[in-house]
Amino acid sequence: MSTATTKSATRSPNFPRKGDVHEQLSGPNFSLARIGRPEELSRYGIRHPAMGRTVDGKVFLQELLNLTAMEISFGLIPPQTSIPFYHKHQQNEEVYLFINGQGQFRVDDTIMAITDGTAIRVAPDGVRCARNSSSEPMFYICIQAKAGSLEQWTGTDGIGVPGEVTWPDDAGKA
Ligand code: ZN
Repeated sequence: MSTATTKSATRSPNFPRKGDVHEQLSGPNFSLARIGRPEELSRYGIRHPAMGRTVDGKVFLQELLNLTAMEISFGLIPPQTSIPFYHKHQQNEEVYLFINGQGQFRVDDTIMAITDGTAIRVAPDGVRCARNSSSEPMFYICIQAKAGSLEQWTGTDGIGVPGEVTWPDDAGKA
């Protein structure tokens, strides 16, 4: 059995967040954060040290989940709105997974269409931005990890574990 414990959300003094997640759980081999429905992302934000202002509609998971190999964020871009800055990275590549929406993504001088279910990888040095040109909120997930660090992936890293799959009736109900 897991030894999951509930703890209240914590805030980093160096990277203050706006908005607390609904719940955090952790155990020896897992951590969980309940962010809520995509529409709720508007109540989250982070104050990025390099920008000196709060970026709304973003929640980063590295601290919430104690991620050790990647940073992941959920993001919301309101209708008819652009991310209000360009940025690039020092060593991390990023993948943007646009769950839904219509808009444009820019890397350097190349502008690409964002459609439902678009994945875009950006090398660290690519200067990037995205905008939502539709009348609906646009939701995306951004994953960043050190470029060139991946040594194994699902075809070589996953290992099957023997045993019949069981789900106790009273476990894990929200
Ligand atoms: Zn980035």
